[in-house]
Formats: sequence, C-alpha cells, structure tokens
Amino acid sequence: MTELSKVPYLSAKQVSLFKKNNINTVIDLLYSFPSRFEDYTIVAFDDVLDLTKVVTIAGIVQSKATVMNLKTSLTMMNFFADVDGNVIKVTIFNRQFLKTKIHYGKYVRLTGKFDANKKRFTASEIAFDEFDNPITPIFNLKGIDDKKILELKEKLYEDYEDEIKEELPAYVRNKYNLIPIKAAIRNINIPEEMNDTYKAIRRIKFEELLKHQLKVRYMFYRRKNNPEGVKIDYNKEKVQAFIDRLPFKLTVDQNKALDDILGDISSTYKMNRLLQGEVGSGKTVVAAIALYAVVTAGYQGAIMVPTEVLSFQHYKTFSDFFGKMFNDEEVKVALLTSSVSPKDKKAILEGLEDGSIDIVVGTHSLIQKDVSFHRLGLVVTDEEHRFGVKQRVSMVGKGYLIDHLKMSATPIPRTLAISLLGESDISIIKTLPGNRKEVITKYVKKSSNADVIEHIKGQLALGHQAYFITPTIEQSETLDIENALQIFERVKIAFKGIAKVGLIHGKLKTEEKEAVMKAFYDNEIQLLVATSVIEVGVNVVNATTMVILDADRFGISQLHQMRGRVRRSDAQAYCFLVSDSEVESSIKRLKLVESTNDGFQLAEEDLLIRGPGEIFGEKQSGNQMFKMADIVVDSDILDEANICANEMIDSKQLFENEEYKVLFDIAEANYQAKKEMIE
Ligand code: ADP
Ligand code: MG
Repeated sequence: MTELSKVPYLSAKQVSLFKKNNINTVIDLLYSFPSRFEDYTIVAFDDVLDLTKVVTIAGIVQSKATVMNLKTSLTMMNFFADVDGNVIKVTIFNRQFLKTKIHYGKYVRLTGKFDANKKRFTASEIAFDEFDNPITPIFNLKGIDDKKILELKEKLYEDYEDEIKEELPAYVRNKYNLIPIKAAIRNINIPEEMNDTYKAIRRIKFEELLKHQLKVRYMFYRRKNNPEGVKIDYNKEKVQAFIDRLPFKLTVDQNKALDDILGDISSTYKMNRLLQGEVGSGKTVVAAIALYAVVTAGYQGAIMVPTEVLSFQHYKTFSDFFGKMFNDEEVKVALLTSSVSPKDKKAILEGLEDGSIDIVVGTHSLIQKDVSFHRLGLVVTDEEHRFGVKQRVSMVGKGYLIDHLKMSATPIPRTLAISLLGESDISIIKTLPGNRKEVITKYVKKSSNADVIEHIKGQLALGHQAYFITPTIEQSETLDIENALQIFERVKIAFKGIAKVGLIHGKLKTEEKEAVMKAFYDNEIQLLVATSVIEVGVNVVNATTMVILDADRFGISQLHQMRGRVRRSDAQAYCFLVSDSEVESSIKRLKLVESTNDGFQLAEEDLLIRGPGEIFGEKQSGNQMFKMADIVVDSDILDEANICANEMIDSKQLFENEEYKVLFDIAEANYQAKKEMIE
C-alpha cells in the first residue's frame, strides 16, 4: 500500500493534514468516503414547486440586478430570470459583488428554495457555467476543500487503482447483486450518476455488514464446534423434583427456555445465551432452576445484577426459594455488594473460595480481584447490557469458558439481536405466567389528578398498593430529589388517613432503600413514591397501579418496562401516564405506549426514534463499527448480509475455498482477539 508521502503530487502540508485525520495511505484516502452528496442536477420548473426541497434550477436572466444594503453586513440582490418559460424573481444575499455579471440573456444556475406565493426563488448558490458534473461529494475534512479532494481522488484512483483489492467472492457478488469493489470505490468518490453512486453505497454497506456478521457468526460457530466448555452432569432427578415442588406449573415458554439452557449446561460447549422476557415473564425462576442444576453437580453459581436494589430483591427471592424448598439446607445463598460489612464480606469470600456457598447474588462487587470461586459453573447476568464491556468480560473471566446466561427484560429489536447478539443463542419467553392481563394504560393530563387519586383509593380498598414514579427533570440529582420530595408531600396529603406513603430515591443509603422496599414489600406502606431507581426488576406482587409523572420525560421502552412492575399478579393492573407536554413527538410516544402492551413492537418503534446508541449506549450499539452502514436504516442489507454469512459458514466455503480466505482471516483474527481478552 502506497504511503501518501510517496505520492509525488501531494504536498507535505496535504500529507500531514490527511495524517491528522488518520489517513496515511492511498487506500486510506480512497476508503474515506464522502459524508454526503450534493446533487445539483437541474430540475424542471414543475419540480421546483416541491417547496420543502432545496433544488437546482437553470434559467436565463431577464433583468439587471438591484442591490439593497439591509445592514452593514447584509445585502440583498434581486433580479428576474426565465425558468422553463416562467419568469420568477430571484433573491440572493451577500453576493453584491456579482452584480455586474448579471445581465439580460445570461445563463444562470441557482440552488435554493422557491416561495410559490411570492413567486420568488431564494438562492443560496449561484453559478454562470454549465456543469461537467452536477453531483458534488462532500468530504468535510478540515483544512482542505471538497473540490481539491475530489481532484486528488480522481488522480489517485487513476494511478493506484490496482491497490484496491476485491475481497468478496464472485459468487457472492452475483448472488447479492453487488458491483465490483473498484467500480464502487470510483462511483462513491467520483460520482457521476447518483444511481451508480447508490449502487456503490450498497456494495460498501453490504461488505461492512457482511464482515461484521461473519465475525459474530463465526464466533457462534467456533463456540458450538469447539468442545472446550465445561460439561456439567447435573442431577436430572433432583432438578425435576425441584420443578415439581414449585408452587406453580412452568409455562410452555419457560419450559422451552429451560430445555435450551440445561442443554447448554450439559454440553461440551460454552453457553452464551440470552434469555429475553418481559418483566414478570418468569425469567428469575428459570435462572434459579439453572443455578440449582449446576449446584447438584457440585458447582457454584453466580448471578450478577446492575443495581443494589435489584441484588437485594434477587437475594430475597432466592433465599426464600431455596430456603423453603430445602429448609435452608443443601443450597446456601449469599449476597455480595459494596455495602456488605468488611466482616461479612470476609466470610462470604471464604465461603466462595472453599465452596461452602453455592449461589452468590451480587453487584459489580462480584468482579473484584479478591473474589475467587471454588468451582464456578454458571454465571447469570441480569440486564447485562447495562454493564460495561470490561465488567462483562471480567465476570465471565472468573472461569474461562464458564457457561454464561444473560437475561434481559428489554425486548431487543430484531436488527440488534442479529448484529449485536449474533454470537449468542437466544431464548424468548413471550407468554406471561398465570392469568396475567395486559396493563390498562391511560394517558392523562395533570388536570385529571383527582380521577387518578379516586382510582387509587378504589384499589387501596381492594387491598392493593401503588407506585408514583417521578422523573429525571433536571441535570442535577438534587433537584430531582426535591421534586420527588414535593410529590411525596402531596401524595401524603391526598391519602391522609387512608394509606401510608414511602419515598425512595437514588441518594438514600442502601440500608434506607432496603428498609423502604421491605416496608412496601410487607405492605406496611401502601404507596411508594420513587425516582426512576426502581426501574429495574423490583417485584411487589400486590402493587397494581403505577402513576408515572411527567411521563414525557421517559423513552418508550423505559415506560413499558416500568409499567411491567405492576403486572405481577392475576389482578388487573393499571398505569397512568401523566403529562402536559405539547411536544408532538412526546404525545405520539405516550399514545403508542397507551395503545399496546407488545414490548417487541414498542422496542422497534423506540429504535427508529432514538437509534441504537441511545438505547444500548454508544459503545454497545454497534453503529460506530461501520463507516457507512447503519443497522437501523440498512436493516434490509443487514438481513441479506447475515444470510450470506451463514451460507458461507454452513456451506464450508469460508473454510475451504481460497477465494474466501481474506474473509476467513478477518473472522479468525477477531475470534482469537476475543479469546485472548477472556483468558
Ligand atoms: P422476571 O424475572 O421475568 O421479571 P419473575 O421470575 O420474577 O419474572 O416472575 C414474576 C412472578 O411470577 C414471580 O412472582 C414468580 O414467582 C411468578 N411466576 C413465575 N413463573 C410462574 C408460573 N409459571 N406460573 C405462575 N407464576 C409464576
Ligand atoms: Mg456447557
């Protein structure tokens, strides 16, 4: 690959400028694509009437230009032009220096917008020559203008075309209708016809997505075909007995997920499975059974959660569960968080190391260096996308090739499941247990407060409980808490003598939070005012109503997830979305959440509105991996690329065919790098 510094017609200044942008070779430069294209293709006058669009028109000047000084730095120039037989007035600002160029009969090309009422075209650009090429690629590199870059690229393409290497096999190009790489590089850098440029863009996006899908699908393949995981022979009878003693029957989806998981556990490959199911769908029970299964084989299990509140909740569920089942014998459960006292911590660490603790529930504390296990067999992470990449790797790193079950209550849109989770297996629990009904959701204005209070009084009379969720309004946590405090006071007044009210927010100490949660859990308080800290996985079966204040402050998925908190028993649940927002997009969001309980549908909508970065965090969203492709916008190309990657692996072409070698090397290198990270 030729270094830019070796190109004779590039100045030292240009070379260093490119270098600053991480462009070092001719190939780097040819693969630095325009960020967009300006299309100055001249449109017919009829199309000018699409008033929303910036268009380019050409005409013949019909008058001299007049110039007005509006302010010291603002001039307005007007003249008339004939465009396809229509005489229109043209206005352009701050081009008074072109006045002498404008005279009757002169060809003029104008880019701008038309105002049909005033029959006036406000131009942002004016030119007097006819085009060679109406499409201008915009590269947006600081310090060098687009025209110069285009000129350089034309030359470089001519001189160094041979350095551009085709990496896609002919079979694939034919099957998926992709133009050769050289043509793509040419048509994207030096565009002539937008249609050809679109084909080039598709080719380049496809290649990016294909390489990504190959990486993840190859990881999947290697994991499934390398018998280097831990094979755990759990005690089938004991596990079945455990299931039989549950106070309920597992749902079809729970059974299916459990079969998948137990299959992974007893196989020689490492499990990497995502268990997806909405809040209340019964994932925790499934995880508990899986953890119990490894315990029956003499292994330990760990479940890691993102917040202390949730770890406390899970700990309670697990201790109850195993405590009742086994009279506190046989399965020993511990809780490890940063607020455990040093003395307790020491005992827990010892228990984990000597194997006397079977299952540990914990937060990030679990990944600290001082935590070591006697014989770890299964790691469960709850809401794992909330952990940083490093944290996830460290937990799994506690035992190389340890089975890993990831749980998520956030329905993951299809495109993200394919691209981000392509190396995982996925199990989905769709049906809710028992006779769960959909949450009746009402979007109301603040003026309906009295109705909401009446409704809650009715629920209280039936012995139920309710949440009031206060949003993040300010950047400052202190102000949010102030807001929560105010609401707390108002709720107390509204329900005076009827119900006890508690308050929970992020600034409380862990013991305080736990005390409030416990009081709510035990129905000592009936109404809980909470900042969105309770967002994750709190389980109070008796709470049937949730009031979300200033609901417009939350995203679609967040709202849906929060209301899942009240869908925990067979009693009818209600959610009020209170908002006075007049912002159209907010109203649309709230109406959508009001209209459906289908988490997957909501997740897809959310993805379209907010983009993957907002939902999953920039780092994990995947889009920064691509120069051109966007997994949301290009979901159809992603699908094709995914199919193509699977075909290459299934047909063994990837491993056996010389023409696929470059792609194979990319996938293999990625696999080795990931493996090292875990080891
Ligand atoms: P998740 O972890 O998916 O949010 P949980 O496992 O906490 O859901 O289950 C929610 C509630 O439903 C719990 O109280 C649990 O005991 C109960 N539950 C789970 N599975 C069933 C089932 N098959 N039938 C009835 N109730 C169930
Ligand atoms: Mg296994």
